[in-house]
Amino acid sequence: MIAVQNDTNGSIAVYEELIREQLQMLGHDTDSEGLNETPRRVARVHMEHFNFSADPIAEAALHLKPFDAPANPSFVSVRCSFSAFCEHHLLPFFGTAQVVYLPGAKITGLSKISRVITSLCQRPQIQERITSETADVMMHLRPQGVLVDMQAEHTCMRVRGVRDACSSTRTRLAVGGFRDDADLRAQALAMLD
Ligand SMILES: [Zn+2]
Repeated sequence: MIAVQNDTNGSIAVYEELIREQLQMLGHDTDSEGLNETPRRVARVHMEHFNFSADPIAEAALHLKPFDAPANPSFVSVRCSFSAFCEHHLLPFFGTAQVVYLPGAKITGLSKISRVITSLCQRPQIQERITSETADVMMHLRPQGVLVDMQAEHTCMRVRGVRDACSSTRTRLAVGGFRDDADLRAQALAMLD
């Protein structure tokens, strides 16, 4: 099996050819004006979103770049958008994530939380796993608690199967002190938009 790397044009060409053959097997003329460049475009989408990582949590945690928290840290809430491809159908799902944490000794830059989630979305995923992995990565900061809340639209529910055009999926996970301490959890939940 050839593992396709972004930097090796040879294997990208092989991969593009597989996509071209796929379209041909479905009866399409891949020399047509519309489809001629499609294998190249699809290959690049796959390179971007279907990466293999032996340790995605550690890789995502590299984005945290922790620094010292103030003496009396406040709750922090960051809301960002995300998009990924589901591992069951390789169809996109997208939505918003809200991460609430109460720092311990360390905090991270606000934009870094968005980078963590983007990193976790670079391989075939399910929303449930992104939610728990985001919490796992945030726990690297040794915070007093973390709450992750995600809401997304899954195109695999919209364009196939039940074809429900209005469906959306919400996942939520509280870990650390937010799981164990009802008062802290209530304060964290109050931060949700
Ligand atoms: Zn799916």
